[in-house]
Amino acid sequence: MKITGVTISTMAVPNGPPVNTYYAANTYIVTRIETDAGIEGLGYTMLVGGMGASAVRAYLEDSILPLVIGADPLQIGAIWQAMYENDRGLRKKGIPVYAMSAIDIGLWDILGKAVDRPVWHLLGAHNERVPVYGSGGFLSYTIDEIVAEAEAFRAQGCRHYKFKLGLPNVAENIDRVRHVREALGNDMEILVDANQRWDVATNIRVGRMLEEFGLYWYEEPVLADNVQQCADVAAAIAIPVATGENEYTRYGFRDLIDARAAQYLNPDIHRCGGFSEMMKISHLAAAYDVKIAPHLVPELSIHVLAAIPNAALVEVLAGSPDDLWEHPPTIADGHMAPPDRPGHGMTFSADAVKRYTLD
Ligand SMILES: [Mg+2]
Repeated sequence: MKITGVTISTMAVPNGPPVNTYYAANTYIVTRIETDAGIEGLGYTMLVGGMGASAVRAYLEDSILPLVIGADPLQIGAIWQAMYENDRGLRKKGIPVYAMSAIDIGLWDILGKAVDRPVWHLLGAHNERVPVYGSGGFLSYTIDEIVAEAEAFRAQGCRHYKFKLGLPNVAENIDRVRHVREALGNDMEILVDANQRWDVATNIRVGRMLEEFGLYWYEEPVLADNVQQCADVAAAIAIPVATGENEYTRYGFRDLIDARAAQYLNPDIHRCGGFSEMMKISHLAAAYDVKIAPHLVPELSIHVLAAIPNAALVEVLAGSPDDLWEHPPTIADGHMAPPDRPGHGMTFSADAVKRYTLD
């Protein structure tokens, strides 16, 4: 089989309320990979808030497509490595890996369609379903909005909910957690996310004050570039630390594991290198009994979670648009099941393509 062309487009997908008080829209760089067998693979990479999207598209067009056109799409490992090694002047963090991920995702879609199997079967089927955690609770929300959002997830059977920390006044954050715990009771797990807002000392202070609330995890305490500082926080607080949404490739995750920076890793399939690399990261983590709970993109991450022994949770963001997909992922009894359609099984709805495509 040969790749005969790749069509790239940009979609700006608005978020619903109240997420849109934080990020008005996310930008998708979409790669449609055409083959001489008549199979088309859909790849895409999502830039939260649209930051960096035009750079990812330019990198794809200038540096990636010349490598991919004419290659055999079933040689996924070889194409991944060619994309990785092609460029020695940009480290594979950030923009280049977003671009590589879009191609890798489209290639697995082609392979699945070629053999008429869903991607999770090809990766090594393991779990029929994975527990969902509801995610949201941005700093712009009131406590009542946070509780209402958590209750909406609970109504779908979810037993895990995450909201944000990072208000400048430390005491206000503790109050937020106390109120949410009181409102939800003890049968719902609470996860918190500091989004890199604090230094080590502040995180340790906050983390220790929060220990009495029995939190499930404490996410991204410090700037993601400073792995040792994350490890310092993890060693000092009794709440398990989660991190990794801003990490790239097996090398980045190796550093997190080596430093004992987290007990939960949050690879983002659009940032870490696609299905191929997320599997490698997951297996590396399994050897250390570190669990995987991917960042966003549940409709693709679910294939990896369904194929690994160390799957923890799949993240579903409140306010995600419900008209984006032909077959949206469904939550039943607080769990998500991977689709049985061939490939990754996701297709943008015709309406969404018409409404959200910029060019
Ligand atoms: Mg996060």
